[in-house]
Amino acid sequence: ENPVGHSETSRSQALFERAKKRIPGGVNSPVRAFKAVGGTPRFVQRAQGAYFWDADGQRFIDYIGSWGPMILGHGHPAVIEAVQKAMLEGFSYGAPTEREVELAEQIVERVPSLDMVRLVSSGTEAAMSAIRLARGATGRSKIIKFEGCYHGHADALLVKAGSGLATFGNATSAGVPPEVVQHTLVLEYNNIVELEEAFSLHGSSTACLMIEPICGNMNFVRASVLFMKRCRELCTQYGVLFIFDEVMTGFRVALGGAQSVYAKSIPGFKPDMTVMGKVIGGGMPLAAFGGTRDVMEQLAPLGGVYQAGTLSGNPIATACGLATLHELSKPGFYEALGARTQSLMTGMSAAAAKAGVPFSTDSEGGMMGFFLLDKLPHNYAAVMKTDSALFNRFFHSMLAQGIYLAPALFEAGFVSAAHTAEDVEITLAAATKFFAEI
Ligand code: PMP
Repeated sequence: ENPVGHSETSRSQALFERAKKRIPGGVNSPVRAFKAVGGTPRFVQRAQGAYFWDADGQRFIDYIGSWGPMILGHGHPAVIEAVQKAMLEGFSYGAPTEREVELAEQIVERVPSLDMVRLVSSGTEAAMSAIRLARGATGRSKIIKFEGCYHGHADALLVKAGSGLATFGNATSAGVPPEVVQHTLVLEYNNIVELEEAFSLHGSSTACLMIEPICGNMNFVRASVLFMKRCRELCTQYGVLFIFDEVMTGFRVALGGAQSVYAKSIPGFKPDMTVMGKVIGGGMPLAAFGGTRDVMEQLAPLGGVYQAGTLSGNPIATACGLATLHELSKPGFYEALGARTQSLMTGMSAAAAKAGVPFSTDSEGGMMGFFLLDKLPHNYAAVMKTDSALFNRFFHSMLAQGIYLAPALFEAGFVSAAHTAEDVEITLAAATKFFAEI
């Protein structure tokens, strides 16, 4: 289906021009605009399995999968059937349904730290609500986050590190008043010394510490086991709620999320609260936040922390999420997905090594990252050392060969259960070609 190659952009470009007249920057979420890598963003016409076709009729192997949700690939027949059936029963009621109870039960059953969840419509909403709940439950104002971690675009979370541990962060977006971020402390990822200092200064006035356990918003950087263990100990010692943002990693790296990966190395390990999104909606707007019963019961209508949503627990989104969870819960799902992802990353690493190109990579389940760096970075500053011009050339070379990678070096990549060994081979051949040329 690729008679013309992958470099035709006339229809995408025309759509982009049209879009820019009515939608700021022509996109409804900034990274879609190819601002970092340059060139014309591909307007998607349709998708199936591991592929999408753009407006110019060209097929691409998709390693974004809607930035994580499409873990089964696009258009899985069981998911389509569930969604079609749900559609005929009505789109939204604003009244409770059995399906949302079932989805809540299924999530809680698979993630041992959770007693209860509340369903919402986006990861942003889930993270924002989790923080409100943590503040309400502890009666404290301060929150701790880490540089390079993204938790959605709620005001208090759009913050970069301040000039020292005693000073709180600066807003990274216009429109966020300093007073709104004055309680947000931003620390360096994987830095135990800084973490300990921050807790000794602010621990007893801090409501929560939020972390992306395997961070997919600075490409792919894991919190070390030692760092995670220290976070857990300090949160317990100071009564700070430890919140895992698993919007990306939840049901993506393992059935029990990244927390189940850490529990393998740290016996009994659990966060106090978890934020989820992406995979649990299977591509529909659905997200969740959850935790222990004592904390979750402080939400309205039981408790004093307000949170609500017109489309929360939407019947079509929950049908899509349930069908997705059903498929990924089948025995061997994550083993096969993890092996496929690894074969791609080790293959790319070997191709780069052969050509003498610096390359490092890591992956877990169906989530992966690679760096054009000799060794894996452990924090945001180290990720920033990547040669962005080289990354951009790599991106465009792969795109021109029909491989759709994330259009920015700060993003993780995603493999789905629909990606075949042949897709991986095609991808590796394209990467090999690029590495040989530079
Ligand atoms: N947390 C993490 C870890 C994310 O990766 C994202 C989105 N990429 C969000 C929160 C925000 O989710 P959403 O875009 O659904 O608001």
